Amino acid sequence: MLVVMQHGATQAQIDAVCSAITEMGYTPVPMPGEQRTAIGLVGNDREVDGTGIGGMAGVAQVIYVTKPFKQVSREWKAESTTVTIGPGVTFGRDLVVIAGPCSVESEQQILTAARAVRAAGASALRGGAYKPRSSPYSFQGLGADGLKLLALARRETGLPIVTEAMDDEGAQRVAEVADMIQVGARNMQNYSLLRTLGRLGKPVLLKRGMAATITDLLLSAEYILAEGNPHVVLCERGVRGFDAATRNLFDLTAVPLIKGMSHLPVVADPSHGTGVRSLVAPMARAAVAAGADGLIIEVHPTPERALSDGAQSLFPEQFSALMAELRKVAEALGRAVTPSPGTAPVDLG
Ligand code: PEP
Ligand code: MN
Repeated sequence: MLVVMQHGATQAQIDAVCSAITEMGYTPVPMPGEQRTAIGLVGNDREVDGTGIGGMAGVAQVIYVTKPFKQVSREWKAESTTVTIGPGVTFGRDLVVIAGPCSVESEQQILTAARAVRAAGASALRGGAYKPRSSPYSFQGLGADGLKLLALARRETGLPIVTEAMDDEGAQRVAEVADMIQVGARNMQNYSLLRTLGRLGKPVLLKRGMAATITDLLLSAEYILAEGNPHVVLCERGVRGFDAATRNLFDLTAVPLIKGMSHLPVVADPSHGTGVRSLVAPMARAAVAAGADGLIIEVHPTPERALSDGAQSLFPEQFSALMAELRKVAEALGRAVTPSPGTAPVDLG
């Protein structure tokens, strides 16, 4: 439930509504706006009777949030959220492109990849230090050493770091280095991890689970917001399909659909969405056309030798060509691609 106060409602009236909500056994979340204050009610998992509050002094309207998710919904907050992960790198404005290898493999590999994606115009570096692999016998990532290499790559290139945390304990370590913490598809419903990330407060990239509905994804995001962290970006990365021609079924419908349902930014991952290198560029262009706020793309200096996801990783020159195309697609739609940090033209005026 959302209580919209009248324009010019006094602080005493706002406080009285908050107290009434507390007395009902729920938690009030006041949200001052430019025009008027709204007070959200959280802590209920079913409809609340708001008739009493609707009659209180200073209340303009009581809106019932009809969806099971609340704080992530557009009913709760109409204007789009922005999430900043580095200087000039903000999701929810111009297109943000995150690029880099699936996994951090060595100093040389991550530095070469970071320099290449930055030269092509990426605005953030991805790379897993902790890898959620389907098989326990596959490369599991370099762990803490991988995090150190990511910190080095940021020092060298200035690119903010996006990397995955797999559990509560790892989240603390990842938070020390990452500018944005990724929750992988396999962990989308790891509610303990989601709560921990909600408390840590760092930006989160929440990937859609491989058999998750959009409501499931939004409810997972709600866990993070419910702990007080509003810096969440959602990611469509494909769901399980029946056709083995692609690794997943890249659900681009999800992009405009989620943007209508939620104020959170939405990015697309055409690498995991397709699993096939030749399909990454066409689907990246399509995702921009569909209104994605950004992309996350796997790029490897030598994909044929990659320790994970080589078959879907772009060669650096392919990524560079794709970036040029994305700028054109974005421009055709009245948008722009965020430049790499430190490369934006300086306004001397
Ligand atoms: C990844 O980004 O490398 C990854 C493991 O993605 P997902 O969780 O979407 O499978
Ligand atoms: Mn991968």
